Amino acid sequence: MRPLLRAEISSRALRGNLARVRAVAPGRRVLAVIKANGYGHGLVEVARCLAGADALAVARLEEAVALREADITLPIVLLEGVFDAASLAEAARRGFELVVHDASQLALLEAAPATQRHTVWLKLDSGMNRLGFAPAGFRAACARLQALGGKLDTLRLMTHMASADLPGEAQTSAQLARFAEACAGRMEEVSIANSATLFSRPDAHGDWVRPGLCLYGASPFADREGHDLGLVPAMRLASTVIALHDVARGEGVGYGATWRALRDSRIAIVAAGYGDGVPWTLPSGTPVWIDGRQWPLAGRVSMDMIAVDVTGSGVRQGDPVVLWGPELPVERMAAAAGSIAWQLLCAVAERVPRVVS
Ligand SMILES: *Cc1c(COP(=O)(O)O)cnc(C)c1O
Repeated sequence: MRPLLRAEISSRALRGNLARVRAVAPGRRVLAVIKANGYGHGLVEVARCLAGADALAVARLEEAVALREADITLPIVLLEGVFDAASLAEAARRGFELVVHDASQLALLEAAPATQRHTVWLKLDSGMNRLGFAPAGFRAACARLQALGGKLDTLRLMTHMASADLPGEAQTSAQLARFAEACAGRMEEVSIANSATLFSRPDAHGDWVRPGLCLYGASPFADREGHDLGLVPAMRLASTVIALHDVARGEGVGYGATWRALRDSRIAIVAAGYGDGVPWTLPSGTPVWIDGRQWPLAGRVSMDMIAVDVTGSGVRQGDPVVLWGPELPVERMAAAAGSIAWQLLCAVAERVPRVVS
């Protein structure tokens, strides 16, 4: 029995996108970012498909634990680090690597038992003003880490780019200059590049690139889609037509009757709604792929359903529908919703079965 609505995950696309990252950043190591349930694709499933990465990154300890419990053996980096001694001990026990971005995390390491060993990614706030040490405190933070002696296994240096999706943006060069200055004369490996930096700033690949979105086949740039970057969508959000209606001219469709038939129309009802992660903000007219063609959304997105104007078609109950995937890039639906591909992918609800092939 095939689920009416499912997220079909292509292991081949994930592996191919990783290969594409390696081709774009030759010789660099790849820290594959799989936080937020593998950008909605399934945390453990994605980790298995990306076994060819050099390490995996998640945001929180719980995600890392779930990976280890599933016997994922690659190094795992906690992008926000840990915030209490018990979590630090757990990280040491399981060998998780830590981002250290503020003084309280340094103090935790200093207070830890001498038996713990940690690989630390020290983060500079080069101008995003989210996480990281200010440039003025960065060298002192390095010194405190080095004073940990045997508790410090490996030290790496990192920063995060705020505006690399806008090529030519002055902020990116300013951030890179601050990071270069903070690292001047140091021998540690460095990591800078998210997906946008990876594709737009080959001069800023560093030793470790940190791609997220591009591994899933989507583009971080507003004016380009994954295909333009040599990427293949790893998720197809696939559904089914569950009903058809003939609607007379002048009738409304859906909540609030925000769409009205300008002519006698045929409406397909599709099993996919905001309860599955389809954005409620999608306007009428947003393209939906049904049986080989694109048709316009008609009216508001419901919790479990959408309506699509298929007037003049031979669409039938049971026909296949694609909300996004290789047939229709997620970037387009994200733009129509006033959102971003990252959000649509990670908002795919838990009730949607992930089918990996
Ligand atoms: C999420 C994240 C990434 C990946 O970003 P993408 O834009 O999805 O490539 C890289 N580095 C850090 C610190 C992140 O939080």
